[in-house]
Amino acid sequence: DRRIINACSGNPDYWGAGAFLDDAEGRERRLKIREILAVGKPTLSFEVFPPKTEDAYDSVEKAAAKIAKLKPSFMSVTYGAGGGTSDYTVGIASAIKEEYGVTPLAHLTCVSSTREKVHHVLGELKERGIENVLALRGDIPQDGSTPKEYHYASELIREIKKAGDFCIGAACYPEGHVESANKSVDMDYLKQKVEAGCDFVTTQMFFDNEIFYRFKENCAIKGIDVPLIAGIMPITNANQIKRSVELSGCAFPKKFMKILERFGERPAAMKQAGIIYATEQIIDLMANGQNHIHIYTMNKPDVAEAITKGLSEIINE
Ligand code: FAD
Repeated sequence: DRRIINACSGNPDYWGAGAFLDDAEGRERRLKIREILAVGKPTLSFEVFPPKTEDAYDSVEKAAAKIAKLKPSFMSVTYGAGGGTSDYTVGIASAIKEEYGVTPLAHLTCVSSTREKVHHVLGELKERGIENVLALRGDIPQDGSTPKEYHYASELIREIKKAGDFCIGAACYPEGHVESANKSVDMDYLKQKVEAGCDFVTTQMFFDNEIFYRFKENCAIKGIDVPLIAGIMPITNANQIKRSVELSGCAFPKKFMKILERFGERPAAMKQAGIIYATEQIIDLMANGQNHIHIYTMNKPDVAEAITKGLSEIINE
């Protein structure tokens, strides 16, 4: 009595955007992300970040529209930790759903926020029918201020769970979170997030798949049994690498450093190599049974398109 249909292609069991559930009475409703992941097909999702100022809103919306045309399984919209861009997250997520027909995932951070603000945002999401939230702590502000009402993402997860029937995701770190004493402690806290009620976890970017495979194994040993989405960052210019290393502390394998050495000074060549590196990473992940891939597309439709084309037959299982 349950049939998954795709509003875009009419292809039953299609993994992509516009997956709806047709219930026994023939009513259709948009699937939550946990249901899309449970279909058991490969999924490919993309991330966009909202504008920092109002005059950039249109250009972000246009980029989101182009990325949505690629029919990803869902699209996530990041949330500014300390306000600023946070007001635009709901607007962009709403446009993704209403205007471009793709399932949105709205990020929400808590460490710089208040209970009142969090519940205000959750209310707005409900009002607009946005049912998927990525619950994050956010980075500790550099201005010396200390956490106010929330300290960890698990507190936010518990609260979202009580606030309605949201599908909740959380972040995880194959190389350990930068503040963690070690990976084992970080894994204990990840388990707490799952116990608090998150439905799936998405990884921080990584460039060495072996690190991901070990992490996945450790999650299984620890009894972390929610779907794991591998987060892939296509590095398309040499400066981005420096920023990525500083922010995430992730390792770059020798193979990647060789690409950087040879092509780093030639932007077009570096971009091409970065896209192909990310595509190869995804092919290896899928060949090794990792079906769910999230791409940090950083508002770049051309990058999203090149990767989607490079995988067109591979993901269309
Ligand atoms: P937590 O899970 O709370 O963990 C933070 C640190 O505290 C870790 O070191 C953990 O080991 C430790 N910890 C957790 N629980 C406890 C406890 N009970 N006691 C002691 N220590 C504990 N940032 C944004 O600002 N906006 C975004 O939209 C955004 N999107 C992201 C999406 C993904 C997929 C990822 C991987 C990260 C994203 N971030 C975003 C970055 C994120 O906010 C930072 O990495 C932040 O520093 C940690 O957030 P968290 O939700 O993982 O925190």
